[in-house]
Amino acid sequence: MKTLFTEAVIIDMVDGTRAIQNGNLAIADGVITYVGPALTIEEHDQYDEVVSCKGKAILPGFVNTHGHLAMTLLRGYADDLPLQQWLQNEIWPIEAKMNTEHISAGTNLAALEMIQGGTTTCLDMYHDMDAVANVVEQSGLRARLTRSCFGFGDDALRKSSLEEATSFARRWNGAADGRITTMMAPHSPYTCGPEFIRQFVEKATELGIPIHTHMSETKAEVELNIREYGARPVEHLDKLGFFDIPSLVAHAVHLTEEEIALLAEKNVKIAHNPGSNLKLGSGIAPITQMIAHGMRPSLATDGAASNNNLDLLEEIQLAALIHKGHLQDPLAVPAKMALAMGTVYGAEALFLEKEIGTLEIGKQADFITLDLTQAHMQPQTDVVSHIVYSAARSDVQDVYVQGKPLMKNREMLTIDSEKVIFEANQAFENLRG
Ligand SMILES: [Zn+2]
Repeated sequence: MKTLFTEAVIIDMVDGTRAIQNGNLAIADGVITYVGPALTIEEHDQYDEVVSCKGKAILPGFVNTHGHLAMTLLRGYADDLPLQQWLQNEIWPIEAKMNTEHISAGTNLAALEMIQGGTTTCLDMYHDMDAVANVVEQSGLRARLTRSCFGFGDDALRKSSLEEATSFARRWNGAADGRITTMMAPHSPYTCGPEFIRQFVEKATELGIPIHTHMSETKAEVELNIREYGARPVEHLDKLGFFDIPSLVAHAVHLTEEEIALLAEKNVKIAHNPGSNLKLGSGIAPITQMIAHGMRPSLATDGAASNNNLDLLEEIQLAALIHKGHLQDPLAVPAKMALAMGTVYGAEALFLEKEIGTLEIGKQADFITLDLTQAHMQPQTDVVSHIVYSAARSDVQDVYVQGKPLMKNREMLTIDSEKVIFEANQAFENLRG
């Protein structure tokens, strides 16, 4: 099946962010076969289907590089608390009651919300990951999935959770026509001891997959690490070999200049969670310093309980705004860079840059369209600026992953929205007891 999308403003995210006016995008068998100026009418004959995208922008789908999908069930459940109190007194006790049905219901709700907001690829770090992988497979999304492990309890418990994480990673890597890939993830240095983390590094090395964790999210966490292990989290993880293999860390809010230099040198990927960090009062990550060191930080929502939505466009907007305000520098994170963080840098952070992140011949046909006809998108001076500073997630019209439409003109094609919303509410009622 060869499809040609015509009359669009195409933002391919190659060479900065050029906008191709009256652009064409062609796809065949899930792969991009042409991006560029309009083809001739005669050339249209080569295609089985020609879709007009008049009044729409086409751009790569958003990439959400850190989250806990099923936590959508806990949206609004316990707000406005500090991280440790929020986790220990509110979130962990109710999460402990979650069974496979709850996880499925919450993940389906997350998939629906992400597709409606233009996210085509996400990372999920949670438990009961077979249920998550099944939802990802059916929804048509692309995802890096990992069974997150805590180091609490005895050796037998740790051994079994490591085994579960390893067998999940092995079983699902490359599944769903390659849309699902996996990684290993000890939850964090404050919930996993050094030896346990070292075992994750070994397993990830053995399987040839990346490793992920939460790191330096709050000041208290950094102080705790120094008290317990005599080192800040970056040095601590470095000693455990964490950064000697492809690695991605979420948050990275509290870093010194030396730590940033080390992370840059080791090519560590960053998931910047501006919304979650602001809401939990954790701080503002030193993104501009990372960029000055040549790093390319990505963007993420984190779980819906700490955000409270999975709107990656909002994270793009926050990333473009908060650093300017915080540093009193209007040049801090320009619009083009914020959009790159939500697309191409996200692909790099998940080690999927060969497949996705830009619209280029040979890459996977993962793209979205945005409505350019609304009042808040006029006049059409600079489409990239409009997307970053003015667009809303409801402007997302069409969502394609691997050439397959998941949403067309805002109609969901792989998910029954009404059923998913009903089941999510039922699951929450059941959890709350
Ligand atoms: Zn998280």
